[in-house]
Parts: sequence; C-alpha cells; structure tokens
Amino acid sequence: MNNSRRKAIKRLTLAGIAMPALSLLPTRVGGENPSPSNTNEMLKTLFLERSKAVFPETKNNREYLHRHPELSHEEHDTVRWLADKLRSYGLTEVQTGELGVGVLAIIQGKKPGKSGVVALRADIDALKIDEASNVPYCSEINDKMHACGHDYHSSCLLSAAKILHDTRSEWGGVIKLLFQRGEEAAHPVLKKNGAVLALEHGLLADPKPTAIFGQHVSPELPFGTVGFFRTGEIGSMAACDTFWLTVSGTGGHGARPHRGIDPVPVAAQIVLALQTIVSRRTDPNSPCVLSVGEFITVGGSANVLAKKVNMRGTLRTFDPEFKTRILKEIKTMIEAIAAANHTTASFDSLQNTIALTNDPALNDRTRAAAKLFLGEENVQEAERRTGGEDFCYYATAGLATCFWRIGTGDPKNGQYTSDLHTDTFDVHPESMRLAPGLLAWLAVCELGN
Ligand SMILES: [Zn+2]
Repeated sequence: MNNSRRKAIKRLTLAGIAMPALSLLPTRVGGENPSPSNTNEMLKTLFLERSKAVFPETKNNREYLHRHPELSHEEHDTVRWLADKLRSYGLTEVQTGELGVGVLAIIQGKKPGKSGVVALRADIDALKIDEASNVPYCSEINDKMHACGHDYHSSCLLSAAKILHDTRSEWGGVIKLLFQRGEEAAHPVLKKNGAVLALEHGLLADPKPTAIFGQHVSPELPFGTVGFFRTGEIGSMAACDTFWLTVSGTGGHGARPHRGIDPVPVAAQIVLALQTIVSRRTDPNSPCVLSVGEFITVGGSANVLAKKVNMRGTLRTFDPEFKTRILKEIKTMIEAIAAANHTTASFDSLQNTIALTNDPALNDRTRAAAKLFLGEENVQEAERRTGGEDFCYYATAGLATCFWRIGTGDPKNGQYTSDLHTDTFDVHPESMRLAPGLLAWLAVCELGN
C-alpha cells in the first residue's frame, strides 16, 4: 500500500466513514464493463463526501453565474470568472483564450500506472430571454438568462475540478475539463458552434482524450436521478438546422392592396404550408419538427403594407439523408408559393448540430458506473428528444462520447418543472449535491481507477 493511499484511508477513518475493501483495478479506458468488484470503493466514498462538502460552494457558484448571464460567443466575463475560480482551487494548468476557446483545465492524477486521458465538458452560454421569476439570484441583465441550465453545468464542473484536484493523489490518469462557449448558437461570423470551434482550436488534442462526457439538466427528471439514453440508439438527440426565409413584395397603401404586392398573407401561407412537409412528406417513423419562431414585417404599419417579411425557424431531424431532402423541399415549396402570389422568396439554412449518438460501449460503462455512485434506482432510461446539442461534434473528432440527462426538477410536488428555454426555468438546489461527485467519479472510473 502506498503512502498516499494510507493517508486517504486515515483521513476517511478519522472522518468516521466506514472503509470498504480496496481493490486494484484493470484499466477502464477501452476496458470491460465496471462491476462492484473492480471499482474503487474508497474513491466512491471519498467523492460522495467531497461532493456533499462542496455543495454550498456549488450552489453559490451556480447562483453567481445565473445572475450574470452572457450570450453565446460573448462569454468574456464568464470565462475570466471560471478561470479565476479554477486557479483559486489550486489548479495550475488553466488556459483561456480568444474565440471559441472557453476555459480548458487539465488535472493530472498522481497515482502511478494510469496513462489514460478523458474529458469532462460543460457549456457556459445563456439565452436571449427575459427572466420572469423573482428568485434572489434572478438574472441581473435584461433579456439575458441562463434558461438552459448551463450555469448548473458550469458550477458542477467547477466543483468536480475542485474534488479531482484535491484528491489527485488518489487516482491516476489525466482529466481535461472543458468549459465550452457558444453551445446555443453558431458564431455569427464563423457560422460554427462552440464545440466545432473548440475542436478547431485543438483543445481536445495533445493529449487527446479517448472519451468525453457531458450532462444536461432535465426538469422532467426528479433531482437525485439521471437518465441515460438507450445503448445503440442512433440519434438520441436531433440534428438541428436553423433556416431563414424572406418573402418580398412592394408595399403600398393599406386601403388599396390591389395596387401593391403585400407579402404578409403570402408569408402566412408559407408558415402553414411548411407544416404539410412534416405531416405529409415525412416518414412517421423518422421524427421531424419544423417551427417558425420569428416572423417580422419590414416597412409595414397599421395602414401601410409591408415590403418584406423575414422569418426564422428551426428544423429537427434524425436522418441526414431525409434532412437534405426536406431542406430542398422547403425551398421548392416556398419559391412556388411566392411565385404564385407575385412575390419572391429566398431561403437559407445553417446546420447547428447533427444527431447526437453515444458510443455504445462507453454508454454502457458510464451508466453502470453511475448506478454504483447513485444507486440502481436513481439511474433511469432517457427518452429520445428533438432537442439539439453541439456535444454531437466531439464524436466526429474520433472521441467516444457519452451524454446524459441529470434530474433537476421536483415533478412529484410540481416544483422546478418549468421547461428549458422558458423565462421561469430553475433547478432544484438539491440537484447540485451529488452531481459534481458523479462527474469526478465517472471520469476516474473510465481511467480505470
Ligand atoms: Zn442547453
């Protein structure tokens, strides 16, 4: 038994925690499924205790981030604040940088004999939503809000960093922690999401992790539970494409529409017609959602016909070939409707995410490790969703990916159940108690500790 192990046992014994038998483990990276016999019980106990101990800090950090939201690709203060926090925890390898970089921290475990590298990722950006709740930690900035839980993801990863750093003599291998910018939207100039930019900036190269983990809050799942996607499911989250539509007319007097060309009824017709693509042109076995969320007239008023209508929407699909066909059909349909009504239409689209598919073996290993940490009854099966996540791009760089949902709601009591992207979204504070320890635990398990 080495010295550091002996010290850890002493610490735990002093804290009055029962010591389970220690086990020497086979390497986890690319290894077989974990089972209680080959999992380090001491680390589990240690991480559970540390996660509970750091809970007030996790909660405070989340509330700080919630009060100070920044939009995608504008997260300058957030990046600075996160890096300062990491350094205050004693981490020395902390990098920040320009565009797309976010914060990258590296923690080297000190236990010899483990050489693997894995990554933990949190997203850090907020949304253009005006918070409606009156919580004491309500957003201090008008029209900006952490309504998708990225403040939660960041504060849990911060606390995981603290746990991993403080216990680094107890585990081996290398853990990269990535606080990623721009998950919600593509960069306005580069037209790429934060995950793509992080990869292009080499954040996950040298050393390259074999596996990367990410989590997302879920108000539908009770706090204390997690939801894992079905192993082998192709597309657990949807491919997301944003599209822009413009219908142009001429404008004119509101009292004499026949003398001009009014684009508004044509645009309205297009919005309705687009839904027939979903209802009539889509295989019911391949889910598809099309929503037009923005409809802005240009140049119109109560008695003046608009000259133009600009629309923006989102398309969610799971099959890439089908998506390509649908995008073509949208273009054909809107041009035909516009022409039939003496207007012109233009169409453009941008791929935000591809469908997210977890690595099957990693999904199995991670779910099994989560059961050991949280208890079998607290690990559920997550349903496929039409939400998108740019975490999907890490798989394209040859990393095994595993993404799961973490419960932040209290559905039984009807609390903390507001949906993501709504102005009353919030997380149950108790959902932060074990989440940092779970992140730390899943990473060290994958490293074979
Ligand atoms: Zn999100």
